[in-house]
Amino acid sequence: MLCPSKADMKIAKNQHVKYLLRHLNLLPARASSYDSTRLAVAFFCISGLDILKSLDVLDEEKKKSIIDWIYGLLVEPKISDNEQGWERCGFQGSSTFNFVCDGRQDDTCPYKSGHLAMTYTGLATLLILGDDLTRVNRKALSAGVKALQQENGSFCASLEGSENDMRFVYCAASICYMIQDWSGMDVQKTINYILGSISYDYGIGQGPDLEAHGGTTFCAVAALSLMGQLEANLSEKQINGLRRWCVLRQISGFQGRPNKPVDTCYSFWVGATLKLLGAFHLIDYQQNKDYLLLTQDPITGGFSKWVDSSPDAMHTYLGLCGLALMNEEGLEKVHAGLNMSKRALKHLHGLHKKWDQ
Ligand SMILES: [Zn+2]
Repeated sequence: MLCPSKADMKIAKNQHVKYLLRHLNLLPARASSYDSTRLAVAFFCISGLDILKSLDVLDEEKKKSIIDWIYGLLVEPKISDNEQGWERCGFQGSSTFNFVCDGRQDDTCPYKSGHLAMTYTGLATLLILGDDLTRVNRKALSAGVKALQQENGSFCASLEGSENDMRFVYCAASICYMIQDWSGMDVQKTINYILGSISYDYGIGQGPDLEAHGGTTFCAVAALSLMGQLEANLSEKQINGLRRWCVLRQISGFQGRPNKPVDTCYSFWVGATLKLLGAFHLIDYQQNKDYLLLTQDPITGGFSKWVDSSPDAMHTYLGLCGLALMNEEGLEKVHAGLNMSKRALKHLHGLHKKWDQ
């Protein structure tokens, strides 16, 4: 890859737009293992185009076909006033699951149930595309979230048995926030789980007694923020400790844990956490920007996690978001808590007002 001097580096906007479009249309062979989470890949691409202020490369027909595809991934009971089967409600990550279910469209296939990360990215993508979520049964979706909360306050990803940890606490909080229905979450239990996962060094892990990590610290802080429970539940000492833990993750870009290499995605995970904690101004913007721009491929587009590595859709999206957090020129501003553009969030808040009437 060409390595320009730092002073020459600019965001290779056109190349990133093409990179994201390519991944939206066809996953490269080496990314085939992501097929089951295809909806998340679509979110990275579409939200990435939004951050690049380039959503208009998708014409109305294409947007409509993507919206229809996403609704095709929604597991929802056929009769909306019958609560039977609501615990399975949510989005799946790929239409491949329909083949796994051998074409059965009823609820008898055990693989026919939503996945919290896919429901979060599905709803977010619909909002980014300007959809008004009218085809979502919000009560059923809420019941689907509720069915996944565990006794200790954490959430599983799906009914088919999965890990339960901070990642899905964040997804659950994002879903409840987007559909403006918190009945799917025992908020106090969730808060207790988050507070119990604060490590001795004030960073936050996947759960109690686990090592603090940049990704899970974001999930915990953003979940509290979306619940409107951030300041009320963390002491000044804890907030300052969290700020210190996050600021110390900056090397040039950010690392996810002490003694780990710098990685593009943490410019968002840790940067967004600092934004939510009101301490983003404490970082060195220039060093962060220099690292991020060194990980972009200026020829074929995309960002990788490390300099001179292969780009992927997730690091491309989070690299762009990391730059957007610093109000980089030419990029849409990003909302740290929901991990989508402030433009899309405004559309969501418009829907909330409508639902309130
Ligand atoms: Zn990463």
